[in-house]
Amino acid sequence: MGLLVQKFGGTAVGDPDRIRSVAEHVSRTVRHGNQVVLVVSAMGKETDSLLRLAEDVSSTRPGREMDMLITAGERKAMALMCMALHDLDLPADSFTGSQAGFVTDGEHQNARILEVRPDRVQAALDTGRIPVVGGSQGVSTDHNVTFLGRGGSDTTAVALAHALGADACELYTDVTGVFTTDPRVVPTAKRIDRISFDELLEMTATGCPKPAMRSVEYARTHGVRLHVRSAFTWQEGTWVDEEEPDMEQAIISAVTHDTSEAKMTISGVPDQPGIAARVFRELAEAGINVDMIVQNVSTEGVTDISFTVPHEYLDRAMSTGGSLSTEIGATGVVSDDAIAKVSVIGAGMRTNPGVAATMFETLADCGVNIQMISTSAIRVSCVVSEDRAEEAVTALHESFGLSGD
Ligand code: ASP
Ligand code: MG
Repeated sequence: MGLLVQKFGGTAVGDPDRIRSVAEHVSRTVRHGNQVVLVVSAMGKETDSLLRLAEDVSSTRPGREMDMLITAGERKAMALMCMALHDLDLPADSFTGSQAGFVTDGEHQNARILEVRPDRVQAALDTGRIPVVGGSQGVSTDHNVTFLGRGGSDTTAVALAHALGADACELYTDVTGVFTTDPRVVPTAKRIDRISFDELLEMTATGCPKPAMRSVEYARTHGVRLHVRSAFTWQEGTWVDEEEPDMEQAIISAVTHDTSEAKMTISGVPDQPGIAARVFRELAEAGINVDMIVQNVSTEGVTDISFTVPHEYLDRAMSTGGSLSTEIGATGVVSDDAIAKVSVIGAGMRTNPGVAATMFETLADCGVNIQMISTSAIRVSCVVSEDRAEEAVTALHESFGLSGD
């Protein structure tokens, strides 16, 4: 019994039947004595279609109009959802992001939430109505409609749960929870019953596609309990919560992989103070987000610096890197876009030695070469050749005992 924010993703509201079954689901949740606030995504692949439509019409695609267009997807879904609820005698009102009190900055297509003032949502709840809020949207401080970005509905739901003081935020998707690894790669992957914010954040940062990383960050900062579960069953999913200090931690909770990055190497870089600062400052100024960085031990006063960047920024990074390399007197820049990052994640790593060793031995046993390594307190990541990534994930999942017995 309590106040629940329930977010339904695109697949969950993908067609009229699905919308009606979500309404049934809400009806049962209410019968069980809960108050519900709904957040909906655009139906099916509608956001993709709207983006394509804009591309077909325009080459300039002004941000303000893009956001007006994209948020229409969620707006359609929320109105239809309210109609389905009315048919079940559940009074419901739809709210755009602006009406729901989402104030954002003006960064179109990737707006950040500045404040949530859910007065109208609260008032609807107080009069026994079900608020249905359009996901991933808000209004900027200069009164324009804004879109929070891809996957932004998860963030809408978490932020609303926090602002309303909800007991939990349920993220309904097309999978039954968070898995020990991608079940498409390793069919024996298991659903995780409970995971900490820190671990899930590391997972979403290294290739686990759902929930959206920003929403996990928001949930962690504000302590919003998440329940990631399937819209197609009543089965419990994965609870995401604070780590309990007295709980026995699994050493490794999950294995992830990410093929969205490419590797760049600037070679023959003079090994002097200020060079790395200059390289990464110029990349940052070109708007390029760098992930892993490795600098070699220098020999004869020169060294190599390698780093990874998202595929879509590789061309820009190569041209920035190219001119930089000449200016600083380096010998050259090369790139490799056929790489993958495989990671093992687990809070138990803090207190158990040997995780890195086991990871490297496992990769060695399958003859997979490690190109780069990085670590955090609860993660070890290796860059390997992209065509060996699935094999590496399968072997790691097995060697850390995550496969079902
Ligand atoms: N419909 C938007 C998208 O696909 C927002 C969301 O679903 O979170 O990115
Ligand atoms: Mg989505």
